[in-house]
Amino acid sequence: MIVLCNPRLLALLSGSFAGAMALWPFIVVRKPTDRFNASLMNHERIHLRQQVELLVVPFYVWYALEYLLRRLHSNGHLQAYQSIGFEREAIQNELDPDYLSHRKPYAFLRCLRGKAKSESHE
Ligand SMILES: [Zn+2]
Repeated sequence: MIVLCNPRLLALLSGSFAGAMALWPFIVVRKPTDRFNASLMNHERIHLRQQVELLVVPFYVWYALEYLLRRLHSNGHLQAYQSIGFEREAIQNELDPDYLSHRKPYAFLRCLRGKAKSESHE
C-alpha cells in the first residue's frame, strides 16, 4: 500500500467530496494525518482489492456507470455514492481491521442490491 498526500489530485478527481481515494496501486489522501486513520485506510484498501479483482480499469468504468444509474434513482449524490456496490462493501467493513484477510473474492457483488442506509461517510 502506497499512500500519497495530494489534495490537489484528490480535488481534481472528486471535487471537494472525497477525503481519500484508491487509485491502484496508490491511496491518495487529503491530509498527511489521514494515513493514520485506520478505518479510512481500511476502506481504501478494500477498494484496492476490488480494483485488482476487476483488473483496475473496468473497476472505474463500472464505478462510474453504477453511480450514474443509481443517481437516477436516488435523492442526490450522497445516496447514489453510498449505494454503489463497491462503496457499500467498503463502508460496511471499514471498521473490521481483519476484513481483507477473510473476505471472499468479488464480495462486492453481494452488495449490489438495494439502497444505501442514510449513514454518512467521508
Ligand atoms: Zn469508498
